[in-house]
Amino acid sequence: MKKIVFLTNALFIKTGLSRNLKAILKEIYPLDKYEIVHYCSGVSESDPNLDKYPWKTIGSIPSNPLDIQKIQSDPHLSRMASYGGYRVEQVIKDEKPDILWCSDDIWSFPPDKFCDTKWGKHLNLISHITIDSIPILPEAIQQAKNSNFYSWASFGENEIRKAFEKEDFTPEYKLGTVNGAVDSECYKPISKLEKDELRKKFNIDKDTTLFFYLGRNQLRKKYDSILRAFKSYKLQNPATKAKLLFHCSWTEGWPLARIIESLDIDPEDILTTYVCHKCKEFKIHKYVGEQKDCEHCGNKKCIDSSSVGNGVADEDMCKIYGVADACISVFTSGGFEFCNAESMMCGLPLATVSYSCGSEYTICDSVHTIRHIESGECQTGFVKAEPNINDIVKFMKKIESMSQRDKDDIKAKSIKWAKERYDSKVIASKWMEIFDSLPKIDYTNFSFDSEEKSNPEFQPNLGLSGEEFIRHLYLGYLGAEYPDDAGMKHWIQRVEQGESHQGIAALFQNIAQQNIEKQDSSQKQKIEDLLPKNDKKNVLFVMKESLGDTIISLSLLEGIRNQYPDHNIIVSTDPKYFEVFIGCDFVDKTIPFHPQLEQELFVIGAGSDKNIADVFIMPTVSTQKHLNYLSNNNTEL
Ligand SMILES: [Zn+2]
Repeated sequence: MKKIVFLTNALFIKTGLSRNLKAILKEIYPLDKYEIVHYCSGVSESDPNLDKYPWKTIGSIPSNPLDIQKIQSDPHLSRMASYGGYRVEQVIKDEKPDILWCSDDIWSFPPDKFCDTKWGKHLNLISHITIDSIPILPEAIQQAKNSNFYSWASFGENEIRKAFEKEDFTPEYKLGTVNGAVDSECYKPISKLEKDELRKKFNIDKDTTLFFYLGRNQLRKKYDSILRAFKSYKLQNPATKAKLLFHCSWTEGWPLARIIESLDIDPEDILTTYVCHKCKEFKIHKYVGEQKDCEHCGNKKCIDSSSVGNGVADEDMCKIYGVADACISVFTSGGFEFCNAESMMCGLPLATVSYSCGSEYTICDSVHTIRHIESGECQTGFVKAEPNINDIVKFMKKIESMSQRDKDDIKAKSIKWAKERYDSKVIASKWMEIFDSLPKIDYTNFSFDSEEKSNPEFQPNLGLSGEEFIRHLYLGYLGAEYPDDAGMKHWIQRVEQGESHQGIAALFQNIAQQNIEKQDSSQKQKIEDLLPKNDKKNVLFVMKESLGDTIISLSLLEGIRNQYPDHNIIVSTDPKYFEVFIGCDFVDKTIPFHPQLEQELFVIGAGSDKNIADVFIMPTVSTQKHLNYLSNNNTEL
């Protein structure tokens, strides 16, 4: 059975990322085909909500005070902790999965923490990335070159292929598209009767045409364009009873109430979804501010416009789509846009922008295309879509004048098209095909030792300055030839703010020391796994090499057996000399030689309660090495 660690948002956070994984696991989990671990980004490892799932869950933000202190002193680390990068290596060490599946935006998975790591090259790394704008970021291209890379929409895959062609690069990993998953058992049209009842409940006329948009209220979602189009449509058709329904938070991003006022739109015409924090009941109403009293449960100040932290259940979401007549999804760019896929699944006519992931939906001939012009974005240089407001107006007119027969036709086409592509059953089987095509991973002889180059004994040159000094510390203490940018920035800033060179060097020395200790303890664990599993104490006989020496050493073993009749006698040597000891009655086990086994203090576990052996014997020491027989002379052991 393959073990898969899924890294994405926790399922109890209302985001597209969590909705996607929830829909996939609903299909995969009952099959009992994989061992599933969910490494949840965005939540603390001590969050009690993590306990309510049938698979193992791990929070990405550590809860021990030392880590918290470390994270809080560095904004870069705190972001990394939230996205999962801070603990990912530990999780991989603990879980030893065959597959690590990471789904989020590209900046969540910096190459130095994921695809460029030693373990990242050892296991099957899957990057499921929302690519929404061109030009493609170099980080995304690097990730696509060094991991199995799947884009949330075909737009991203196509752009990566173009970039590869331009560089004449042949990928050695898989590259493709897997869309977000929508649970079609949940997202489907509601009955005419239910629609009428809901409209009655929320005081919406039967003959009102309700245009819907769902999306986090943020810069790239063009709420203002929809409002402008609505204003224009109203002016052109004064008799219309059309209204808008925005399912979003009104306190985030676009100042919706202010825009409505400045465009002189009747506030009665713009509805929103309110959700009760306490009883989770939703209602559709014109916007009247936040923290309202709940008529359903009677609690005070507990109703707000819906948000990531205060959303509705999928079953209720389907009803909200069902109350509406059409969906207008307008964005400057987008990775997948659940609103598009879900509204189609619910049978609503959809109008959307033909850029970014939108270009995938506008291929369907039942979808109305909102044309756009390209505009550049400051700082990132990304191409963003500026939607044509007139095309939104045209869609409103089209829907209001459409015959029932044409509406039914669009409904049937949209549902069929969306189910073939986005149904969670389709998506889950795509993922399983990918999981099944990847090999199982053996960790037996794998060492994570990314810390192996650490050197706490390094003597730094405190006379260097600025960036040069920090690079010097990274290389000397941590063996890092290419330190990550954010780390460099952080330390340079601390130097510039006047922290002493000596103090900073001491911090680096500390990290190097910790790395060495971590390495020691994981090495010890690996060696312990090889030892005989009985209650006896061990004698470790270290004979690294040479055929001659190993043969001569045989003569010593009888004496050792006589001296320690109740111990296991363990010989550590290069595996090619194992056969010398086969059949020798005085040897209980042979284990591969490791340089640390030459360290007597490491072997006898000085300073700790666990050890590899109580007696350490290294006969060649007089010719090669140091410290020996410290424990051997202690016959009480
Ligand atoms: Zn309530």
